[in-house]
Amino acid sequence: MKAEILCVGTEILLGDIVNTNAAYLARELASIGIPVYHQSVVGDNPGRLAAALQTAFGRGDLVVMTGGLGPTYDDLTKETLAEYFGSPLREDAKSLESIQAFFQKIGREMTENNRKQALMPEGAVIFHNYNGTAPGLALEKEGKTAILLPGPPREMELMYETGVRPYLERRSGQVLVSHTVHIFGMGESAVEQLLRPTISKMENPTVAPYAKTGEVQLRVTARAADKAAAEAMTQPAVEQIRQALGNVVYGVDIGSLQQAAVQALAARGLTAATAESCTGGLVSKRLTEVPGASAVFGFGACTYANEMKEKVLGVSPETLERCGAVSPETAAQMARGAARIAGADIGISTTGIAGPGGGTPEKPVGLVYVGVWSRRHEEVLRLDLGRGQMREREQIRYLAASHALHALWRTALLYPERTDG
Ligand code: ATP
Ligand code: MG
Repeated sequence: MKAEILCVGTEILLGDIVNTNAAYLARELASIGIPVYHQSVVGDNPGRLAAALQTAFGRGDLVVMTGGLGPTYDDLTKETLAEYFGSPLREDAKSLESIQAFFQKIGREMTENNRKQALMPEGAVIFHNYNGTAPGLALEKEGKTAILLPGPPREMELMYETGVRPYLERRSGQVLVSHTVHIFGMGESAVEQLLRPTISKMENPTVAPYAKTGEVQLRVTARAADKAAAEAMTQPAVEQIRQALGNVVYGVDIGSLQQAAVQALAARGLTAATAESCTGGLVSKRLTEVPGASAVFGFGACTYANEMKEKVLGVSPETLERCGAVSPETAAQMARGAARIAGADIGISTTGIAGPGGGTPEKPVGLVYVGVWSRRHEEVLRLDLGRGQMREREQIRYLAASHALHALWRTALLYPERTDG
């Protein structure tokens, strides 16, 4: 099977929105073994859309489309596809029912043009939309398959997971299972180097590395006739990777550093507090992204000015005077202060120079201290995150926050897990 991703929307062509749907679908399709040979974008224009379909099916047999499934006059993807496949549109009773139910749930009147979303090409497989009104669909004819998904990523991604992926697996007669190993503190090339003897010969499962800012993820994917068999094939590979990499692995399928930290704290009945300077709240922002964070996190201070480090956190003026705001001493006092105010088990702090200005030979841009305070363990990390490049302020701040979250996670692990469930 050769696939193409075709995204519909003038907004994408104009650069008003970023085509994250294409990135998501490319990655997902690759992970289930479907090669994507082309990606294209076309505006909300039926003539050019028909031409794009023609081109796509001229060079592949699966076209996954997003966008233009909405109720308005410029949403024409379904109509154009139905015409291309020669399948007349008919009202689908079940789809109409769920659209009506959706409007009832949100307490709004359903307008007449929403009915249009229940029109489906004859013979289509229909995918339910759990986050919106427009159902998606798959249409097959003479060895060509088109899949149509809504544009909004929240709707599209959930529909892919709940409808499209199972549909593609049913068709291939194979089930894929994948697990993601999360790595922090080792670069992609070092990870590859270490694992080359283990993974280079693997074909099933496959191991695919993805580099993210400061992190590496390894996606281990196995295919088999059923889920249990595929699952059993991934396990030894994941174990081997864990063994080879040791403590730079912070979790499997854990999602993110902040999720790992929140989970580790919750499992031990611990709480954390943060005091941030150069990260400006990024650590607490990332912690509170995690559902359920309120059980482990109740206080984060953004103390950007020295005066506030003193007033709010109790950092001593003498320390600030003698060592400066960017110093291990200040970081330690900030972490301790945050924990004291909140009555938290662990305090985490950041203080550093994010640039572009403010660096000196002794304290260059990118120098960041991360403070950790807890009854069991106190530590100050010195990080040199500057690369001497332009526009690295955001990168420095993000990495500093990542190190702080990682330090929080590591510190939580020093405590025993709760046994009361
Ligand atoms: P709606 O019912 O909201 O009109 P739709 O299926 O008709 O949905 P579009 O009108 O094409 O989809 O796009 C709706 C919104 O979805 C866009 O404004 C944009 O925010 C988002 N969107 C659409 N296509 C993409 C894409 N390829 N990548 C990321 N976001 C997208
Ligand atoms: Mg639309």
